[in-house]
Amino acid sequence: MLVLTADRVVDGRGGVLEDHGVVVREDRIAAVLPRTELPPDGHRLDFPGGTILPGFIDTHVHLHWHFGEDGRYSRGDPPETNALHAVENGIRMLEAGFTTVQSLGAAVDGPVRDAVNRGVVPGPRIITSLGSLNARTGGPEEMAAEVHRLADAGADAIKIFASESSRDGGGPTLSQEQLDAACGTANERGLRTLVHAHGPVSATRAANAGCTTIEHGSLLDQATLDVLAEKGLFYDPNTYLIVANYLENKDRYLGIGNYTEEGFRLMSENSEGRMGIFGMALATEGLRVVFGTDAVAGAHGQNVREAVARVEQGGQDPADLIVSMTSLAAESLGLGDEIGTVAEGYAADLVVVDGDPTLDVTALGNVRLVVKSGRPYRPRN
Ligand SMILES: [Zn+2]
Repeated sequence: MLVLTADRVVDGRGGVLEDHGVVVREDRIAAVLPRTELPPDGHRLDFPGGTILPGFIDTHVHLHWHFGEDGRYSRGDPPETNALHAVENGIRMLEAGFTTVQSLGAAVDGPVRDAVNRGVVPGPRIITSLGSLNARTGGPEEMAAEVHRLADAGADAIKIFASESSRDGGGPTLSQEQLDAACGTANERGLRTLVHAHGPVSATRAANAGCTTIEHGSLLDQATLDVLAEKGLFYDPNTYLIVANYLENKDRYLGIGNYTEEGFRLMSENSEGRMGIFGMALATEGLRVVFGTDAVAGAHGQNVREAVARVEQGGQDPADLIVSMTSLAAESLGLGDEIGTVAEGYAADLVVVDGDPTLDVTALGNVRLVVKSGRPYRPRN
């Protein structure tokens, strides 16, 4: 039994309990109790001045992306090399407090996910699409067939590219029929769909097709945000870290694929636009805005920078931000009864930070302890 105490417990649903502790048995939260009622036995860890939160959740990462031996973004490494980079990136994110990540995603994620689940290799819970559908997949029949293939291979969700990259302008690339086939088939298989869509046309088609979540949406307008809310989609804006990381590591990407000077210009020009759309999304009645960073090579372990930017630049209330990266993110993953909340019966995925992140969001970066499935990890810093 593990007993954690701190000045406060932030439950992930907007509640704050002063002077409470959390009792962990095996891989579950056994109880959340006032300090005076905590059991005297067990392995006790006290964090005066600290806050206990649910483990953080990032709903959009690319687990194995990495810089190669030459320091440049490496796309041609063999699967065994990619797998080990995926493990390392997972550990980086776990130590930063992220106990669950959704990787959208490559086939190599599967064996890494399974290795972490076997309980020896440290890492966050990994939820992966194992691959993705895009315009090259083919027409509606090929779209449906690819969903079945990925589902049979063990994908936890389906990733669909319905628009160009923002480095190519972000225009729509899939027809309504293609999206109907992809999301319709995924719904039949009980799998959620994560749709890369930058502009209003691709996002509206995805909403009409019954897809689950819009990723990016960096060129959306109010009318489209209203449609997403009305149809009950989740919205995962990747508002800051993705572009900041690309710009900080420009020389490691430039010249590879669409990482051109023009591509970088298009990405960086829209930085204010992204933050503006994020603000519009927060103000859209009924729209569920979740937390995803789109962490690529260079960004793993820095995921909290997205949280800080959402509050400091995007104007989100820190308490709401915490909900978006815990219970709401869990709900968007279909795991709302399992993770993302500090309450009896939930998985023992916890983070302890110094300070009070409901007042100062930067406290989310002061990680003292991470508990995943009941097992404590101390960050190396
Ligand atoms: Zn992505």
